[in-house]
Amino acid sequence: MLHEIQPEKHPPLGDEMASAISTCVHCGFCLAACPTYQELGQEADSPRGRIVLMKEVLEGKLALETALPHIDPCLGCLACEPACPSGVPYRDLISPFRAMAEEQRKRTLGEKLRRMITQMTLPYPGRFALAARTGKMAKPFAFLLPPSLRVMLDLLPPSLPAKQRWDEINPAVGETRARVALLIGCAQSVLDPDINSATIDVLTRNGVEVVVPPSQGCCGALSWHVGNHRSAQSFAAANLDAFPTDVDAIITNAAGCGSGMHEYHLILKGTADQARAVEFCKKVHDVSAFLARLGDLQPLPDRDRKLRVAYHDACHLANAQGVRIEPRNLLRMIPGVEICEIADPHLCCGSAGTYNIDQPEIADSLGQQKVDNVVATNPDVIATGNIGCMTQLRTHLAKRGSSIPVRHTMQVLRDAYR
Ligand code: SF4
Ligand code: SF4
Repeated sequence: MLHEIQPEKHPPLGDEMASAISTCVHCGFCLAACPTYQELGQEADSPRGRIVLMKEVLEGKLALETALPHIDPCLGCLACEPACPSGVPYRDLISPFRAMAEEQRKRTLGEKLRRMITQMTLPYPGRFALAARTGKMAKPFAFLLPPSLRVMLDLLPPSLPAKQRWDEINPAVGETRARVALLIGCAQSVLDPDINSATIDVLTRNGVEVVVPPSQGCCGALSWHVGNHRSAQSFAAANLDAFPTDVDAIITNAAGCGSGMHEYHLILKGTADQARAVEFCKKVHDVSAFLARLGDLQPLPDRDRKLRVAYHDACHLANAQGVRIEPRNLLRMIPGVEICEIADPHLCCGSAGTYNIDQPEIADSLGQQKVDNVVATNPDVIATGNIGCMTQLRTHLAKRGSSIPVRHTMQVLRDAYR
């Protein structure tokens, strides 16, 4: 697409945004893949429409306020990327544009309060656990709160699991085949810490030493994907210092975190950490992709029971990291497992970081559709690779009275090893 953007006017990511826009040929192949186009039915709420809107804002021909009602509902799910025959790197446009817009836009008091609460709690496990417990007590009084804060209470689980800690060094069982560092995730380590225990279990029994860096923090994805560039930079820079460089890989087990860490080169562009960020990104791998590459995994014990597993593709694993086959193949290693494919797998479940809070109607509709499609496969268990999706699926399954368990791929695998 031809444009008149002057990248130097939009530092530090003006070049990336202009390049993404120039790659788009306006063909419209991406429209069918976009959940918000499906929900809202307007060109302006499609990837192509948004690209045009962002182009015109960057050119100075359109007011930011005119574009934002269509940019804000974008899930950042990146379903438009694999659907695009021209290879438009939409991720290089949407997050940098949101960061730029955040510096200029005027938010209402309610929006500021909501953003402040999420950004001051979710990335910090201690604060988040405290907020979740306090929020649970406040649930009976939810009717007194404005709708935006009521949504946040609705999303809180009925109870939190016990806090878990992990050793800094978790030795490989048998011969050491690799040494990795694990990101434990902030919300995940509060909502379902067993995912980390399962990940360490599966890795160590396959000959991988797992380091859990004690000074690691939030990956920064939550901040980056809602346009808080400074906060994302601060989290990313802290993790560059916290993670050892003498490991074979940096392992993530939450798709959103993995995708955020893959973007450290964008987040830290123009800072003193830019070169380190580029090297860091090369080492980041989702645990399922790492295990697939490691190969020669320990065989799983025989079982006489069949297990129907509906595998849900987390957008930030399938679209952002291209990891689709690996988790399915890992699950197929379990004797008796049958993978049930979910209809419309490219459609986001509506979780998408804080999207549930920011755009509750669309999130709710997508969550219901996803659960309808999942339940139609009649599975014994649902497996996925992202805590946000797990929470969204559990919430919508509970709403329709379904008790199908939702597990992380590593939990299903660990349980099968046992
Ligand atoms: S499919 Fe790609 S090139 Fe075609 S309109 Fe969508 S983003 Fe542009
Ligand atoms: S990221 Fe998702 S919601 Fe946003 S334009 Fe692309 S497909 Fe649509």
